[in-house]
Amino acid sequence: MLKAVFPGSFDPPTLGHLNIIERASSLFDELVVVVAENPQKKYLFSAEERVALMQELVRPQKNVTVLIWNSLIVEFMKQQDLPIIIRGVRGTDDFSYEFELSMINKALDANIETIFMTTDPRYFVLRASAVKELAFFHGDVSNMVPPLVEEALKQKYHY
Ligand code: ADP
Repeated sequence: MLKAVFPGSFDPPTLGHLNIIERASSLFDELVVVVAENPQKKYLFSAEERVALMQELVRPQKNVTVLIWNSLIVEFMKQQDLPIIIRGVRGTDDFSYEFELSMINKALDANIETIFMTTDPRYFVLRASAVKELAFFHGDVSNMVPPLVEEALKQKYHY
């Protein structure tokens, strides 16, 4: 059984995240989406809200599970005996950040293998922070997030 972990903030889940999940879940027998709860970060959606959204969105994919983790991802991976981490890469800026992160994770646990998946060209300028900024000003985010997330953003920002 080949299993992998896809960690992130997913604040909120975007079509870019979902595209990586769809593609990774067809490459691995099981994919665990880990929603980060980092007390140092400010989120728009609580961890419970982000997990609930993600669970609903991945419901059709039977080999994908979603859970919250509030510590180092390597600790989760050690505990669950899951050595493969998937990260999405939109461009060279993402890559240099993700590369450093993978080096840090490797130094923490030499068994961890990071696999980078390149974005789909449709989503290469798509990031959750831009979605939030656009939604804050009541802009149209329908080509960036699924309808469920668009609805949740409308409720948050009252439009
Ligand atoms: P974090 O808060 O951990 O930086 P995010 O929640 O923004 O990450 O994203 C989680 C993962 O999804 C990261 O690996 C990120 O590079 C990837 N990702 C985000 N947006 C996209 C996108 N549009 N296309 C491909 N991968 C993406």
